[in-house]
Amino acid sequence: MTRLIFLGAPGAGKGTQAQILAASCGIPHISTGDILRAQVKEQTELGIQAQAFMNKGELVPDALILDMIRVRLSQDDAIKAGWILDGFPRNVAQAEFLDRLLTEIGQNYNLAIDLGVPQDRLVARLLERAKIQNRPDDTEDVIRRRLVVYDEQTAPLLDYYQRKDVLRSVDGDRELAEVTHHLEALVN
Ligand code: AMP
Repeated sequence: MTRLIFLGAPGAGKGTQAQILAASCGIPHISTGDILRAQVKEQTELGIQAQAFMNKGELVPDALILDMIRVRLSQDDAIKAGWILDGFPRNVAQAEFLDRLLTEIGQNYNLAIDLGVPQDRLVARLLERAKIQNRPDDTEDVIRRRLVVYDEQTAPLLDYYQRKDVLRSVDGDRELAEVTHHLEALVN
């Protein structure tokens, strides 16, 4: 069964590639950012609490995220087909939680895939995206904060998964289709 963790900085193209790969593998694409944005839109209790952190480019506290992931991974489609996790885990505590949760439910992931894109390209890509999407966290200040948060809290996961020997790196600074091709070769 295919179970993948997608790593990579904001703007690396994680979401787009995860979505394409999930469709071609026929498995759920689980994006914590998408789930949170849906909650914000509906102004659920979780959405209202998460919104302030998201708008500042900070991580939403683990206390709000971990339950959400436990519930999502326990749903039928994820149990039966596998998944691609996009945007989770985002720090070492979340990665440790995921390992415990998967042990508890008798699952494991195949790979953690890092999509690498140079820092200066990330800002340019995110500013470009800001023109076509309407995300409150795509202003230049918040983009820069999200990149710092990535470096401080998420980048240590590369080491975490490297040590488990499941990390693979793909150059994300290429044409979309070329990146997809490399990802498919890695997964299949
Ligand atoms: P994304 O769409 O993955 O870039 O996520 C957008 C925002 O949602 C992030 O900047 C965080 O504020 C929040 N977020 C998404 N996933 C997580 C997570 N696993 N842990 C904490 N915050 C998250």
